Amino acid sequence: MLNLRHSLIRNLSNRSRLKSTHSLPGDIYDVIIIGGGHAGTEASSAAARMGARTLLLTHKLETIGEMSCNPSFGGIGKGHLMREVDALDGVCARCCDVSGVHYKVLNRRRGPAVWGPRAQIDRQLYKKAVQKELGGTKNLEIRAAAVDNLIIEDDKHCKGVLLANGEEVRSHSVVLTTGTFLRAHINIGLEVRPAGRIGDKPAQALGEAIDRLGFRMGRLKTGTPPRIAKDSIDFSQLQRHDGDNPPNPFSFLNEKVWLNAEEQIPCYLTYTTPKVSNIVRDNLHVNRHVTEEITGPRYCPSIESKILRFGEKVHQVWLEPEGFDNPLIYPQGISCTLPFEEQVELVHAIKGLEKAEVVQPGYGVEYDYIDPRELYPTLETKRVSGLFFAGQINGTTGYEEAAAQGIVAGANAAGKTLHQNDGKQLTISRTEGYIGVLIDDLTSLGTNEPYRMFTSRAEFRLSLRPDNADMRLTQKGYDFGLVSEQRYRHFQQTFDKIQAGIEALKNLKKHSNFWRSSLGLPTAKASVEKTAFEMLGIPADNITVEQLLHLCPEELSWPDCDKTSSERIKIEALYSFFVAEQQQDVDEVRREERLAIPSDIDYFSKTLSLSNEERQKLALIQPLTIAAASRIQGVTPSTIVRLMKYVKRTEIAAST
Ligand code: FAD
Repeated sequence: MLNLRHSLIRNLSNRSRLKSTHSLPGDIYDVIIIGGGHAGTEASSAAARMGARTLLLTHKLETIGEMSCNPSFGGIGKGHLMREVDALDGVCARCCDVSGVHYKVLNRRRGPAVWGPRAQIDRQLYKKAVQKELGGTKNLEIRAAAVDNLIIEDDKHCKGVLLANGEEVRSHSVVLTTGTFLRAHINIGLEVRPAGRIGDKPAQALGEAIDRLGFRMGRLKTGTPPRIAKDSIDFSQLQRHDGDNPPNPFSFLNEKVWLNAEEQIPCYLTYTTPKVSNIVRDNLHVNRHVTEEITGPRYCPSIESKILRFGEKVHQVWLEPEGFDNPLIYPQGISCTLPFEEQVELVHAIKGLEKAEVVQPGYGVEYDYIDPRELYPTLETKRVSGLFFAGQINGTTGYEEAAAQGIVAGANAAGKTLHQNDGKQLTISRTEGYIGVLIDDLTSLGTNEPYRMFTSRAEFRLSLRPDNADMRLTQKGYDFGLVSEQRYRHFQQTFDKIQAGIEALKNLKKHSNFWRSSLGLPTAKASVEKTAFEMLGIPADNITVEQLLHLCPEELSWPDCDKTSSERIKIEALYSFFVAEQQQDVDEVRREERLAIPSDIDYFSKTLSLSNEERQKLALIQPLTIAAASRIQGVTPSTIVRLMKYVKRTEIAAST
């Protein structure tokens, strides 16, 4: 296996060198993508897969697929997005399967609907895998160039771009995926430098050009922690956390990832101390980023905002590897923008890091974003036709959110030319996927803080699971021309296997006491008929497809029953009852949308069990109806169901 790993690394290194293309005068591309980050790579791959002649323009070829901040992909909600991008034949999941160093499914103690596939990634290998993938994509040309302006005709049609060297490149549509680069600067202490991220120039002229077009824009900020030399850390005092055994792949195409469980690199957990809080508080006057009025990420806050918000509480710091041969460690949880010397002092105040060498300072970045309500659900702008925005430019944070928007924008930008006769568009609804939830939240509610995905944002989360993303989206992607024949054939085989299994299990009925005694469960007085599928839905680890096959080998058999499909059938059975119940709740909320919320409602009542964020927002906005409450960003669908039931209960109590 070690040899396999080394040959994979060599293979990626040898074949990932991209060549810059030269456009010829008079060339007209179907689609131009600006930016080779996570939105841009998915957008260019998607457009080219659909058969559109596509040009990716990005500052530097060597930063295509760069992970600007954390060396990890996936997590709770984010892992769902990756599986959906993969179901649409996207790039990121497959690249993570050949570049991860530590794979772990988060939230295992809860049900599979909210499991969060996540991996620590070797950032160099990831970049190489992405570059190799794009380098081998038919219909895709790649060019290193800075875009300074857009070519707009008749005030409302985007027809290409103007490069910093004055050259015009023409196209039928343009997808802008410039991340944190628009009119950006970075902050360390009181020092301010123009940059889109450390080492990269900002997109000043392009930011001004978009502003001139009249788009509603805002300012957001985010930050990254200092990087630490691995060999200067005393790991002996810290909690070690190993990856899963076996490590699970992200992509539906892969049965396993590229390394064995024992080859994975561990992460370590440590904690901040009261001294860290003192350093932060004593140095606020030299910390420009923190005192700025601009909104930072609520769910991935800097150590400064955690200390200012939660006082003396001790905070977790995860020490995460940056890669196999990378000498750096990423200390997740201490993103900060103090002056460099104070950052070193802060790091030294953490257990295990007393003698740590800080190799690169943490820093903050401030950048322009565009109000995503300027967009249709296809991610085309309402103001200028043929112009699409995707990724952090739309107010999101995270690689996965960017990738999810990229694939939709790239597909629709290509579809604009290829499907111009039938007018087909790729839109994903909230009932079909987390991608739908993300895009619907952004385009209908907008955002005034960096938006990240959580399972709690999805009202249909019992059916929108990471295990079934292909069942929800691959057919749709194929019908739109986005999914390759090879992927589609793979999907059909999986689909047939799972359907055959479910059908066989549903067709086999026996008395419940037969099942119960055979499965080692206590028998009941009344024995009613139950299908094998219903029995499989009992949430017990020892009731598996394999066990049922063993019990009834002659009645239960279907072709190609393998471990992966058996596990997926078990999850389907586990959720079939709850999915039906969830649908009833959804229908009830729809019926009761106009239900009035009493003005004296106490959002701080324990019975409602709201989160702090929900309490604050509901108490401030005082929505008049259930429909109005459901439109408040950050108030989850399950809260809406609880709120509706609470209001109905109090109404009944008042009338009796
Ligand atoms: P990016 O990955 O930023 O890619 C943009 C690309 O566009 C770059 O390749 C750039 O060179 C190119 N480009 C820009 N302008 C032009 C132009 N005019 N012409 C040509 N090319 C151009 N996310 C989290 O989830 N958690 C965090 O804690 C977090 N912290 C972050 C900290 C920092 C300092 C930064 C910079 C980012 C952080 N992120 C974080 C965000 C994460 O990196 C992004 O969400 C993600 O990379 C966005 O992907 P994207 O494709 O939209 O943009």
